[in-house]
Amino acid sequence: MSYLVLARKYRPQRFSEIVGQNHIVKTLINALKRGKLSHALLFSGIKGTGKTTVARIIAKALNCKNPEDGYEPCNKCSHCIEITKGIFVDVIEIDAASNRGIDQIRELIENLKYAPAKGRAKVYIIDEAHMLTKEAANALLKSLEEPPSHIYFILATTEPNKLPPTIISRCQRYDFRRLELKRMIQFLQEICLKEDYEIELSALELIAKEAQGSMRDALSLLDQAMAYGVKTKEDVISALGWHEEVLVEEIAQILLERELKKAITLSRKLYERGVDLIYLTEKLTEFFRTLFIAKVLPDEISLTFQNPALREAFISASKEELLLIFQSLLKDLEVLKRSSYPQLQFEILLAKICEFRKLLSIKEVLHKIEEISSVLERDGVTPLASSLRRESKTWATFLENLQRETLPLYALLTKIPEPEITASEIKLHLKGNEEFLKSTYLPSIKEKVENYFEKPLTIVIENEKRVTIEEVKERPEVKLISQLFSAKITNIQLTKE
Ligand SMILES: [Zn+2]
Repeated sequence: MSYLVLARKYRPQRFSEIVGQNHIVKTLINALKRGKLSHALLFSGIKGTGKTTVARIIAKALNCKNPEDGYEPCNKCSHCIEITKGIFVDVIEIDAASNRGIDQIRELIENLKYAPAKGRAKVYIIDEAHMLTKEAANALLKSLEEPPSHIYFILATTEPNKLPPTIISRCQRYDFRRLELKRMIQFLQEICLKEDYEIELSALELIAKEAQGSMRDALSLLDQAMAYGVKTKEDVISALGWHEEVLVEEIAQILLERELKKAITLSRKLYERGVDLIYLTEKLTEFFRTLFIAKVLPDEISLTFQNPALREAFISASKEELLLIFQSLLKDLEVLKRSSYPQLQFEILLAKICEFRKLLSIKEVLHKIEEISSVLERDGVTPLASSLRRESKTWATFLENLQRETLPLYALLTKIPEPEITASEIKLHLKGNEEFLKSTYLPSIKEKVENYFEKPLTIVIENEKRVTIEEVKERPEVKLISQLFSAKITNIQLTKE
């Protein structure tokens, strides 16, 4: 049996039955009463907020033989009954997401000139209108501009920003809002009463919360809950197993504890259960952002965890660790959204975080550098790290001094890249800095640099040649760092042009 059973059974058939969206219903009723309904309407809003339902009620209101008060469909006349069944010739529904979209639009435009066959008005309901091809949208545009008086267009879309502005500007727009939690719970309660199904209020609250403002989602979740015989909040969690907060916390704990095996098992389970992995990853990313911020600003954010083990893991996690996981999730979320294999991508995403080996804080990194220095000194290699540590003279401090001393020289130097300061010399790499090379100030700059750093200044004129990974790997300091961190060089990037 289809899980849409409840949604179909309780689909509103009159304006008075519509749940929420009061602002829209009121405006539409007024327009219908005065016979002033716009011939091109645009309904936007997330799925399951009643866009198509309202469109069908309008179609009925325009074609009903005996509308109450001039707008409310009677649902008894043959026109109303046929529209409800979806077989009325003058109400045409087009799903722009299907391949038939363009053909149907062409057919539509050809048929515009004919009067309605049975009713008073021809109503075209175009669902997922943002999916129209460019050709179809262009063909439609002309008709939207001056629709014949017997024609009404109702465009429904979840993504209005993807519609051409020329189409939007020709329509009267109505934004369908997410349903309020309270209103949704109340409606679910009414349905359970009608269905004679007993369930705790807290269970319905959880279902409504999970539906995120979409009545259709709420009803299909209630369908599932009823199928499992769910009565309590705990039943909902164990039977449906997807409850967001619980699930997000479970994954967060696995990631913080680097439990690769658990991560993979859970990932499979989630996929089998049909959990929306993109949505889940979004929630997980948000959660790690909150964790990170709570770590940085503990006085401003107080966290409450359902899971005490996660609390422990959070306390022992470092700022760097949380930031790294947050960053990684954010980056992979985009990949996941585009992936044709979301379940595999999700698995990779979890595995990657679990395999971040041991994450090092800045303090630990500094400690490692000390270690590198002592090894280098012991081996008689140029003590790069220790000289870095001792070196208080940097290019920045040099520029700072120079700025105080002579502004023209300072101004000239800010236009060139930062030189490389090695143990034995100052190496300035230039490409295309002709102005600087021709400057009469060059000798005095050389002198000032050499005096400050007590090292000779060499100017290297470079072509566009870039450093290769192979070259970098051969440098002694890189070799040592690779060894100490058991690191692999995958990419080199210039830090400053
Ligand atoms: Zn009727």
